[in-house]
Amino acid sequence: MPLTLATVPCLEDNYAFLIANDAGEAALVDAPEAAPINAELEKRGWSLKTVLLTHHHWDHVEGLDSLTGRDDLTVIGAKADEHRLPTLDHAYSDGDSFTLLGEEVQVFDVSGHTLGHIAFYLPASGLVFSGDSLMALGCGRLFEGSPELMHDSMNKFATLPETTLVCSGHEYTASNGRFAATVDPDNKALALRNIETAKIRAQGGFTVPSTLALERATNPFLRANEPSIKSAIGLPNATDKESFTKLRAMKDAF
Ligand code: ZN
Ligand code: FE
Repeated sequence: MPLTLATVPCLEDNYAFLIANDAGEAALVDAPEAAPINAELEKRGWSLKTVLLTHHHWDHVEGLDSLTGRDDLTVIGAKADEHRLPTLDHAYSDGDSFTLLGEEVQVFDVSGHTLGHIAFYLPASGLVFSGDSLMALGCGRLFEGSPELMHDSMNKFATLPETTLVCSGHEYTASNGRFAATVDPDNKALALRNIETAKIRAQGGFTVPSTLALERATNPFLRANEPSIKSAIGLPNATDKESFTKLRAMKDAF
């Protein structure tokens, strides 16, 4: 049985994610704000056991200490970030795996937005929790890492199965889509996605999670290798890394 996923909007535009097994045991990915997470747990009758943290930014950890049953929670995060994360019970690095709610979790280092940013991939349930690395139609701003590093991180997502649900940390899809349209103007899948995003947001819905298939088809930061994008940004002969670097710089200035 795949785990059940609940997307929890927090703060202004953050997402936290709850996953639970049939016994109602739950894990949380990122803790932007406790109240909506506690309310979701109560509504579903789930009992929170474990918290996974993708990176150290306040809008992903701030709610931790006010979560229901805080004293009994097992907290998991990146070994590389242990010095600036809340106290961890288990610290993992790229390539590590562990068991959560009866399922295997694989840890990827996806640094770029921050150094020591990790993603959690659950192959059996087809879920990847990408925090502020791979995002819906975008990727996180580079606060600590280089474009080269973020490009390497994006390539780790690119090889996951198409049906993987990408559970990322923010609702930025509409503004990401406005940028994407400028660098991938002839992409019909992108144009359709932008229309769909506007519809979903007008109804107060979430555009996260998305699928990896959709990201591959429309997210410019997974498409830096496309000749059409390289031409559109004026670098027809660029390497994929050069193309990614320019895309990221253009997005920063957008
Ligand atoms: Zn962040
Ligand atoms: Fe964030």
